[in-house]
Amino acid sequence: MNDYVKHVADNLQRQYGHEPEYLQAVFSWLESIAPALEDDSRYEKLDLLTRMVEPERLFAFSVPWVDDAGYAHTAHGYRVQFNSAIGPYKGGLRFRADVTPSVVKFLGFEQTYKNAMTGLPIGGAAGGADFDPRGKSNREIMRFCQSFMTALYRYMGADTDVPSGDIGVGSREIGYLYGAYKRLSGRSESGALTGKGLTYGGSLIRQEAAGFGTVYFLARMLQHQHESLEGKLVAISGFGNMSWGICRKVTELGGKVVTLSGPDGYIHDPDGVATKEKFDFLLQMRQSGADKVEPYAEKFGVKFYPGKKPWEVPVDIAIPCATQNELDVEDAVMLIANNVRYYVEGANMPATTEARRLLCLSPKILTAGSKAAGSGGVAVSALEMVQNSLRYSWSRSEVDRRLQGIMSDIYDASAAAAEAYGLGYDLMAGNDIAAFKKIASAMIAQGV
Ligand code: GLU
Repeated sequence: MNDYVKHVADNLQRQYGHEPEYLQAVFSWLESIAPALEDDSRYEKLDLLTRMVEPERLFAFSVPWVDDAGYAHTAHGYRVQFNSAIGPYKGGLRFRADVTPSVVKFLGFEQTYKNAMTGLPIGGAAGGADFDPRGKSNREIMRFCQSFMTALYRYMGADTDVPSGDIGVGSREIGYLYGAYKRLSGRSESGALTGKGLTYGGSLIRQEAAGFGTVYFLARMLQHQHESLEGKLVAISGFGNMSWGICRKVTELGGKVVTLSGPDGYIHDPDGVATKEKFDFLLQMRQSGADKVEPYAEKFGVKFYPGKKPWEVPVDIAIPCATQNELDVEDAVMLIANNVRYYVEGANMPATTEARRLLCLSPKILTAGSKAAGSGGVAVSALEMVQNSLRYSWSRSEVDRRLQGIMSDIYDASAAAAEAYGLGYDLMAGNDIAAFKKIASAMIAQGV
C-alpha cells in the first residue's frame, strides 16, 4: 500500500471504525483500484481518494408515524448524497430494520461507482430508514412514506437528488412517496423519483431491469467462454424484485433457476422457477409482507430447508441477490467444492471480504461484482429520467434494447480495464478501475 492510500485508510478507520459495512466497501475498493493509482499524480495532490470515499452530504432525520391502533413510533431516516461529479445524486431507499448510517453510506458509495458505468449522467446516493415493513398495513405504509417524504422533499428534485426503491421499497411505496412529494413541493415533477407506476411517468422494464440486467451481464461472460445459458443450473438467493427478473430471463434463455431463499431458509425446485404461475407467486409472497420463502415449497410441493442457505446445492452459476454479507467463507468453500463456474453478484456487496477473496482467487470460477452486474435497475432508472425529461415514453423493446446495450458496454469496459492493467479476466477490479478513472476525471475537471 502506498503512503497516500495508507493515510486515507487510517483516517477512515479513525473516523468510522464503528461503521463496518461502509469500511468494508471502501477498503475492498481501495484494494481493487490500487493498480491505477500511479497513473496520475493529481490523484494524491488533489486528495481525490478522500474526496471519493467521503459522502458529500449526509442527512439524518426522525420519521414519526402512527400505527393503526393509534400508537406513535419513530424511525431513523437517512439520505446520503455521496457524489455528484457526473450528475444529480441518484440511488435507492431501503426500509428495513437493519438500516444504519453505515449501511446507507456503503450503499451510496457502491451506487456512485455503479452509476458511473451506466454511461448516463447520474451521481450516487442512497437512503432509507430502520422501519420494518413486515406485517404493516397499507395505511401504515402510506403514513410512513408521507412522514419520510416530509423530511426529505426539500433536499431532492430532478436535478438535485432522485431516489428510487431498494429492499422494502417497491412500486407501492414509490407511489406514496411520489404523491407526498408532489403535494409538498407543489410540483408535478416526474423526474424527482424513479420506479414510478406506468400511469404516472414510470418506465417499461424498470421492474424487470435489476434481474434482466444481471442476466445480460452473465450472458456476456458465458459468451466469452463460448457457452450459453442453455441447460445451465442457477442458484440464487432472495425472492424479491431482482430474483423475480432473474428467474424470468434465465428461463427465457434456456437455463434453470433451482433455488430461492428468504430469512427463513431456502427452497430447492429441481424443475426450475420457470413458469408464469411461479413468477407470479414470487410477487405474491413479496406483497404478503411476511418475508418468508417457505410458502413456495408448500404451494409447489418442493423441499424447504429451514435456516439454510442455497449455496449447498450443486449448480453451474451462483447469483446472490438478497443482501450484504449474506455469503460467508463457509458458503464460498461450498461453492468452490461444488464446482460452481460463475459467481455473479446481484445484491450490493453480498459476500464478506474473505469470502469474496476466496472466490476471486479460485482459478475455476469466473466472478463479476455487483457494481457491474447489479446495475440494471439503476440503468433503467436513468432511462426513466431521460423519458421524463423528454415527456415521452419509449416502448418495452426500446428500453430493453438500451438496457442490453448498457450492460454490454459495462462488461466491455470492465474487461478492457482488467486487460489494460494486466489483471487478466478480473472483471471486478476492471470495473472498479474504469469507474474510478471516470469519476476522478470528472472531479479533476470541476476543480477542488
Ligand atoms: N437500489 C437500486 C440499486 O441498487 C436502484 C437505485 C435506483 O434506481 O436509483 O441500484
